[in-house]
Amino acid sequence: MNTPWSYPDFDAHEALHFVTDRNSGLRAIIALHSTHLGPAAGGTRMWHYADDADALTDALRLSRGMSFKNAMAGLPLGGGKAVVLADANRTKTPEMLAAFGRAVDRLGGHYVTAEDVGMSVADMIAIRDQTKFVAGLPVAGGEVGGDPGPHTSLGVFLGIKAAVRRALGKDSLAGLHIALQGAGSVAGGVACHAAAEGARLSIADVDAGRAQALAAETGGSVVSTDSILGLEADVVSPCALGAILTETTIAALNAPIVAGGANNQLATREDGERIAARGILYAPDYVINAGGIINVSTEYLDDGDASLVRRRIEAIPGRLEQIWAISAETGTNPAEVADAMAMKLIGRA
Ligand code: NAD
Repeated sequence: MNTPWSYPDFDAHEALHFVTDRNSGLRAIIALHSTHLGPAAGGTRMWHYADDADALTDALRLSRGMSFKNAMAGLPLGGGKAVVLADANRTKTPEMLAAFGRAVDRLGGHYVTAEDVGMSVADMIAIRDQTKFVAGLPVAGGEVGGDPGPHTSLGVFLGIKAAVRRALGKDSLAGLHIALQGAGSVAGGVACHAAAEGARLSIADVDAGRAQALAAETGGSVVSTDSILGLEADVVSPCALGAILTETTIAALNAPIVAGGANNQLATREDGERIAARGILYAPDYVINAGGIINVSTEYLDDGDASLVRRRIEAIPGRLEQIWAISAETGTNPAEVADAMAMKLIGRA
């Protein structure tokens, strides 16, 4: 029998909650990977999965990633994630959001939610009607909180600059070519920061309209989703969905750096080694994309102001440099170095 415990991505997750609300049609999984450092925090993803097994795999991988991300960002939070199993039209109703909010509330604060793919600030406001264990809520000017996307983008941009410094010896992105997979919230911010510094952008999104709009805004070019990862570029920046770095796509990479905001970019553990073996510098995803959760955490825990959030995000490049330095010293690839550091922090070394 194929139980959650037998899934390849099951990693001693502390709890898995399968939510069904017959009235609204909501089906969701709330995965708590670790509460070692604090309440399990991580956003809610609403996605149309090919099947239930895909959804569970995503919840298992994403929640583990949040444990690692929160630990590596120095936050007093554990790792969790929710996935809402949407229909093909990704129908989202107020009743579904209310039912989801009630499910989060029943966990009594062991899980704290926020936005992820397919979930907006407005959705978090709806969820707040049912539970206080939610962040990413709108705030008045100057206060900490709101959409984590721009904060994630800032951290990714600073991380790309650190990678460019290390691999190419350059202090600026001016004149460099960045291949951006995705044109959503995170990719949009990365594109704007990079374009402002004079980078040339190639952008691909399955939503062609989004790709076109972002290209128009940043002076970039739209390329096909099939070609983006193999483009000849200075940086490939995956900012869409996960598991896109596979044996095949890694063999086709044509850039010295992979640094982007998408969660779970490596399809398998071996792919970290495959990238390193090709001499390509990889920025571990959960380290470079922590800006959003840093903002969410500061909002939820109410332990700092906007300038502290900025300083915490500005620490991301230093953390990446530390990982790359250990990697160079030990010959262990950056993904494995980061995993080992994170596991130690969550008491699973
Ligand atoms: P988003 O929904 O705003 O954008 C995602 C975009 O990717 C969409 O435009 C979608 O059409 C596109 N896309 C999906 N599949 C694609 C494919 N195969 N090729 C090209 N484009 C594709 O989501 P987002 O908030 O920008 O998140 C993007 C990634 O960053 C996700 O992996 C998410 O988990 C991760 N992330 C987001 C945050 C945040 O603060 N929003 C924080 C950390 C990590």
